[in-house]
Amino acid sequence: MTEKIIGIDLGTTNSEVAIINNGQATMISSDGSVILPSYVGLDSEGKLLVGEAARNQYTVYPERTVKSIKRSMGGSDKIFMAGQEYAPQEISAIILKTLKKIAENHLGEKISKAVITVPAYFSDGQRQATREAGEIAGLEVVKMINEPTAAALAYEYNHQGGKRIMVYDLGGGTFDVSVVQIEEGVIEVMASHGNNHLGGDDFDQKIVDHIRRALKEEHGNIDIPPEAAARIERASEVAKLILSDNPFASIKEEFLLEKKGVPFHFSLELSRDEYEEMIDPFIDETMEAIHIALKSAGLTVSDIDEILLVGGSTRTPLVGRRLEEEFAVQPRSEIDPDLCVADGAAIQAGMIAGEEVSAVLVDITPYTFGTSALGELDDGMPYPFMFVPIIKKNTPIPVRKSEVFFTPFDNQEVVEVCAYQGENNDAKQNIELGKFTIKGLSKVPAGNEIITTFELDKDGILHVSAMEKKTGLAKDISIDNAISRFDKENMETARGKIVDLFGEEDEAPQADSVNKSGNVENVKAMALVEKAERLMAQASVEDKEDLVDLIEQINDAMKAGDKNSLAEATDELSEIVFYLDS
Ligand code: AMP
Repeated sequence: MTEKIIGIDLGTTNSEVAIINNGQATMISSDGSVILPSYVGLDSEGKLLVGEAARNQYTVYPERTVKSIKRSMGGSDKIFMAGQEYAPQEISAIILKTLKKIAENHLGEKISKAVITVPAYFSDGQRQATREAGEIAGLEVVKMINEPTAAALAYEYNHQGGKRIMVYDLGGGTFDVSVVQIEEGVIEVMASHGNNHLGGDDFDQKIVDHIRRALKEEHGNIDIPPEAAARIERASEVAKLILSDNPFASIKEEFLLEKKGVPFHFSLELSRDEYEEMIDPFIDETMEAIHIALKSAGLTVSDIDEILLVGGSTRTPLVGRRLEEEFAVQPRSEIDPDLCVADGAAIQAGMIAGEEVSAVLVDITPYTFGTSALGELDDGMPYPFMFVPIIKKNTPIPVRKSEVFFTPFDNQEVVEVCAYQGENNDAKQNIELGKFTIKGLSKVPAGNEIITTFELDKDGILHVSAMEKKTGLAKDISIDNAISRFDKENMETARGKIVDLFGEEDEAPQADSVNKSGNVENVKAMALVEKAERLMAQASVEDKEDLVDLIEQINDAMKAGDKNSLAEATDELSEIVFYLDS
């Protein structure tokens, strides 16, 4: 039997270890978690603490605890922990040895080799220090790979052909962006840029500042002892995590502080909008870094085929939104952003060990689910059925996401909530899965907040609920088989196939005057022509002329079997039809 090689993501905030098991990259857990916080400490009796225990100690005894050691790797600084002096390699070695032991306990065998990931910007000195840390921990570092390379391996292992990928990695304390080129199976980092002191911790700090401001406004200048400060920090991070999936987070801390000897509770509601405003400047900074990386790779936004999201902070919806706005592609995050670098390290380790390796498997939804709301079309016209995606396609399941909507009318006592599956901005073009109404809403001015929640479980059942935030009045429905339904495209292809099989007999009578081949394009075009003819009455003189011309062009193209001309005319006609129909 060949010796197992483990893959390690040695991160600034968190570290993970993974192996290949039955061809699949598999995370190894310890104490129920696959994430080991990169904290090392000594308790009051001199006992070594690593991971969660050390992290918990940090808030109370920072002098006995070390965090973010990765930032000191390759430097000559001495690290002090409980009054003792350590080299950065030694602290890192403690983390590596813990991961090695976790893997050995899981596998029931000794491990002596590892692949370790490092940031693309790490210098030779920093890489050497990482290698030494491995040696101190009793691990031969058979290969060190760049973190973006590992992420690309996790997503694109065995990709054929060329591809340019941007890896956007936003963790707890660091941000890196790398442009990666895949060519004939070789993955190469073309350029990298980042900020060693930007990450989720800064997001937390913004909420901490907000809470402190609120405390000051309400209670004046009061003393905040370290324990209360630690509670505020924790509550801020929790609120941040909640805001990734919900439009509001309520922060409640009982007996947080004392005023003139009397303890008091603290509570505050934070909306996602307020929070996003606080962190927007950080996201701006990451966008600037992206452009620097692109420039040094000699590329522009349109040269990027794909964006991969890495690091826990990329779960912040604003990150995905800003990237999508900039690149016009939906960033990929179906492989857990906390684990994808370790997945890639395990894949590399398995390849070196000569194991059979297959692509990372994830359970995702292939469709987008959402609801409709009053919105604006591209031309600024109001439209009541704008599709609002709530669970986007390729999101791992199970998943639960909430969004807030506002009633558009004063004293509106009823809302209808409709669930759709599809990708079209016009909800009416998507598949309607179900709907319900909530009656008896409060008689208040427009802007009453309704929280709509979509929850998709592992069995493909979609639960949709809506709640009036003010009163808690709620209603819900469950939709079975939400992901195995036929989508519209499949439906049309299938219809086309059936038409082909039936030949002339099954064709609509009006088809006699045109081409009878019955292929999908023709079927689509005929349906469009029919719709255009119905809308003719309400069209302006100019639009009418265009409609007549395009219908003629479509009929001619079908007769002549001219696919290009058919596609061109159908596209143009569908634009006018869409505009007239809305
Ligand atoms: P990493 O360094 O990649 O392990 O990322 C850790 C950072 O990700 C911490 O700042 C976490 O608070 C943050 N994080 C984890 N989950 C989420 C989430 N759902 N939404 C926003 N930030 C998150």
